[in-house]
Amino acid sequence: MKELIAIQARSGAAATLRAGYSITIVNTHGGQVVDMWAFCADDPSEHLSMPHSVVYLSRIKPAVGSVLVSNLRKPMLCLTQDSSPGVHCMLFAACDPARYRLLGCTAHHDNCADNLRRAVAALAVPLPYIPTPLNLFMNTRFDDDRVMRIEPPEAKAGDGVTFRAERDCIIVLSACPQDLVPVNGHGCTPTSVAYFVHQD
Ligand SMILES: [Zn+2]
Repeated sequence: MKELIAIQARSGAAATLRAGYSITIVNTHGGQVVDMWAFCADDPSEHLSMPHSVVYLSRIKPAVGSVLVSNLRKPMLCLTQDSSPGVHCMLFAACDPARYRLLGCTAHHDNCADNLRRAVAALAVPLPYIPTPLNLFMNTRFDDDRVMRIEPPEAKAGDGVTFRAERDCIIVLSACPQDLVPVNGHGCTPTSVAYFVHQD
């Protein structure tokens, strides 16, 4: 029996993923972006790196079979299954307090960077900066003038992605709290998501 663990809307979570094990992230309600990070368990200063993975893959969106690498260009995660339309974003920085200030927020706004900090606070993960996450289900695309557009995710309720760890990892997930621009569906309404760890 797989233990499905919910991540409440606007919240984050960390999970240990041993080499050879897999994690499946489920878009419970559809339309929700999930920021994902990974840190090497034996030396968390080495982390999953989107710019390095873009070079390694020669792609700006991962596909089934894509191996994502660290800032030292070592394999960390393999995307083994994807039941969503396969639209993810490797280019976007995590939302943070400054992002929401620039969008006009004058009060505190939940954000993925703080969710990451909280999730790893007890795990001795150094965060001199916030690595660019893999923005799961995030629907960014370029128009003919090379302008990037953000549109609501195409992922439907129950869609999921599965990654197999190539080495022992700490995985961090954040159900993105963005509700000011259409990163999330349902009229920019953040929702809960879920994940489970498994051996197959
Ligand atoms: Zn976010």
